Amino acid sequence: MFKTLQSKIILNFAALIIAIVTLLLISFNYIVVEQLKLKLAEELKTEINLIELGLLDVHENKLDEYLHNLDNFTRQLNYNLILQNNNQQELFKFYSDTSIINKDYDVLFLRKTGKYQIETRKYKDAEKTFLLVKKSVDIKLGDNQNQNLRYIIIETGLSGIENFSNNVRFKIIVAALILFVFGFFVIKYFSRIITSPVTKIIEALKEFSKTGSPQLISIEGGEEFKFLIESINNLMRKIEEDMNELRKLERYRSEFLGNVSHELRTPIFTIQSYLETLIEGGINDPEINIKYLKKALENLERLNRLLSDLIDISQIEAKQLRLSFRYFSINELLQKVIDDLKILADQKEINLVFDKDDNLKELAWGDKERLYQVFYNLIENSIRHNPPQTTVRVYYHKINSTLRVFVEDNGIGIPEEDLPRIFERFYRVNKERSRESGGTGLGLSIVKHIVEAHNSKIYCESKLNQGTKFYFDLKIA
Ligand code: ADP
Repeated sequence: MFKTLQSKIILNFAALIIAIVTLLLISFNYIVVEQLKLKLAEELKTEINLIELGLLDVHENKLDEYLHNLDNFTRQLNYNLILQNNNQQELFKFYSDTSIINKDYDVLFLRKTGKYQIETRKYKDAEKTFLLVKKSVDIKLGDNQNQNLRYIIIETGLSGIENFSNNVRFKIIVAALILFVFGFFVIKYFSRIITSPVTKIIEALKEFSKTGSPQLISIEGGEEFKFLIESINNLMRKIEEDMNELRKLERYRSEFLGNVSHELRTPIFTIQSYLETLIEGGINDPEINIKYLKKALENLERLNRLLSDLIDISQIEAKQLRLSFRYFSINELLQKVIDDLKILADQKEINLVFDKDDNLKELAWGDKERLYQVFYNLIENSIRHNPPQTTVRVYYHKINSTLRVFVEDNGIGIPEEDLPRIFERFYRVNKERSRESGGTGLGLSIVKHIVEAHNSKIYCESKLNQGTKFYFDLKIA
């Protein structure tokens, strides 16, 4: 029940109030009430002394008159006055309060000092407390031994002091209650201010563990909490980012898997159907047998290309694409790619041009095999995706210690809306046409990764029906 910080603060506050009130009540009792009683006892002593002096002085004839006066005097002051002889027999008594005569009592307090005895008594039936002062004296009041005055006793009710102390006690308790109620709300208010950031943090963390989605905490409270909350928020943001990244990867993965199976299925089905037609008798038809076998072979080649691209992609994904960097002649490399693609270009009646600068002395820095793959892909794309009679130009500019290499064509171009996505895996502007021309849809994605592994970035500029230009920088020395 009292587990929260706030309830602990309130509990402590209540304990503090109770302790203070108890201390106040105890010290009030001892300091004030007891002092009042002692003071009253002193007064009674004085009265007794005065009575004693009067009795010593009074003439035998005037004794009755004196006692009568005493009678009046004690009545006015609300005293009980008792004069006793040696045998504790009463020689004279006057009771202002007759309700206590011959009643049983308990002695609450008793002190004897010299001739005086001070006592507080609680009368059982009357439920009254009295203070009694008794002095031993020695006064001859008559000729008879029994008439010798031995004790003067004055007794008075303590109800005045008791009422006063009860009244004060009541006020202390009422004040404490008011203080408690008021303090309760003040403490509750302030403790909420103090604990609210902690409560917020706890709630956010609970929500986080329940829903799994990070919760940002709105910042309030002092500097100490600000730092704590900011740190937690940063942590939450980091978790959110990581989780988004994970979700994205997960989505990529399943998308990729779907794409891969789809890409594999097409050539396999095609091969299957050509072979089935041949088995069902087509093999004997000279019109189609060679043609169908060639088609099956084409599709096998496509499968082969797809698999080798997939291997590249999976290596890149697994960060296992190992590059071996060295200096090499860019002219030689580009010339080799161009020579290797010459036949394809001729077949497609595409004009393939290489603006070679024979004066270029610097060597390029990179993985020659992988860069061969990059240029092969880019130039092959320009040949495959474009109509006959267009031109593909390969050239470069030297800018300080980098060489910007361009592969440019004046073909069909890429629509503006597709441009940002062409480097994605399996993204094609025209799916059917790309497949027919032998593309896997993975080429540019592999190119991009290889270029980035060279600490560079590949750019594509294209205008529909005007042509496309790819370029990136290589370090030279
Ligand atoms: P593909 O195997 O289909 O060529 P790529 O990843 O190499 O896959 O290229 C992605 C897409 O970009 C292609 O399908 C094509 O639509 C477009 N593309 C690439 N190069 C060119 C180019 N030079 N001219 C026009 N379109 C191109």
